Amino acid sequence: MEYSKEIIEKYYDYSPKDLVDAGICPTCFDRATGGHVFGDDSKNRIYEDADIDCLFVGNPRADGHAIISTKQHFHDMSEATDEINKKIVCFTKQLMLAIKEVFGCERVYFCTMSDGPMNHYHVQLIPRYAFEERGSRNFVKPRKEYVYDKEKLEKVKNIIENFAKNYK
Ligand SMILES: [Zn+2]
Repeated sequence: MEYSKEIIEKYYDYSPKDLVDAGICPTCFDRATGGHVFGDDSKNRIYEDADIDCLFVGNPRADGHAIISTKQHFHDMSEATDEINKKIVCFTKQLMLAIKEVFGCERVYFCTMSDGPMNHYHVQLIPRYAFEERGSRNFVKPRKEYVYDKEKLEKVKNIIENFAKNYK
């Protein structure tokens, strides 16, 4: 979504939830404002190209919690092309493998909701560690501060960048 200067000024200090409720896409608004909604993501970024954006979440439910979102605005999977959906799923698989390898979790849960009057297509990858019980409660584990780990970020980045080179 494109937002005018007037809209940006009006909603500048809204939280992501309030933006959604006001019918403003928080992801597109964040990109239009150079990261005003979600903050500087230079220490979270795993990968990006013309179609998708791959980040560690700023308020993760577990270490290694990541999202993949589309560059173009779609409310959710149902609006995106099959080509984009295929790409999201293929990158999700690779990111899942990379998170397991680098973070040492037992499993990575996969979900997508993009609810509310206005939202932006993104999928979430939430690790479940050996010390945690299995089950759907892992989807709603309490959120915490993101801890930047340069080494782990670089390892995951390398895996995904190498995968992306051969992706058609
Ligand atoms: Zn959007």
